[in-house]
Amino acid sequence: MIVYSIFLVGNMRKINISGNWKLNKTASETKELLAELTAAVAGATKTEIVVCPTFVSLTTARDALQSSNVKLGAQNLFWEESGAFTGEISGTQLKNVGCEYVIIGHSERRQYFNETDATVNKRLKAALNAGLLPIVCVGETLEERESENTFTVIENQISGAFAGISAAAMAKITIAYEPVWAIGTGKTASPAQAEEVHAFIRNKIANLFNQQISENIIIQYGGSVKPSNAFELLSQPNIDGALVGGASLDAESFAGIVHAAEKIEG
Ligand code: PEP
Repeated sequence: MIVYSIFLVGNMRKINISGNWKLNKTASETKELLAELTAAVAGATKTEIVVCPTFVSLTTARDALQSSNVKLGAQNLFWEESGAFTGEISGTQLKNVGCEYVIIGHSERRQYFNETDATVNKRLKAALNAGLLPIVCVGETLEERESENTFTVIENQISGAFAGISAAAMAKITIAYEPVWAIGTGKTASPAQAEEVHAFIRNKIANLFNQQISENIIIQYGGSVKPSNAFELLSQPNIDGALVGGASLDAESFAGIVHAAEKIEG
């Protein structure tokens, strides 16, 4: 495999640890979990911490996060602002209930809800228009990795997602590299496997935009991240954070990942 590398003159990127709660936790459970979590990470000063509960728990979460160092995000949004789109939620509505971040193009949305690179692109533009900070997910399936198509898949997802996005807008975007075979499976990409793809993504962003955007963009890793593997993953030069599923549902585990991030030099 080709190894892509970028030489960074000092890494100024702030580590971002985001929790994707998926379809878990009622509003009252959200309140309990956030009470525990905010206490456990109160001392964290170097890490951007984000939680993304379900839509119906967002206002509860917003209230629970007041005066904490934990930011609020959503798991999806629709690209239209308003109208006859039963069941959908707009970027403005998310912003209005206190969301700063929104996850876009998670592999589960691609797998179960027909999300494509084209719909990811529409949602991304809507999120940016609403003033949200998008976390755009990319990643290959096991079959794509085994057939040595990882880089082609990632390249297509990146070009599709960021078509028509300005360099200025790119500064607001986080990318999450989440190999589909590592999500919720307990299988983590090795730090070297993850780093190889992260470096490839950063190189691709430099080609599509410019060196400065590429050096500053946060690229999270996602796929069975837990306290025991977080430090090694986050120590890689091009891994700037984690998008965490299962381990974000437990305050101690998620806080353990944040504490690992706090130990990273830089
Ligand atoms: C995710 O859902 O984005 C994810 C990475 O899940 P898990 O951490 O459970 O693998």
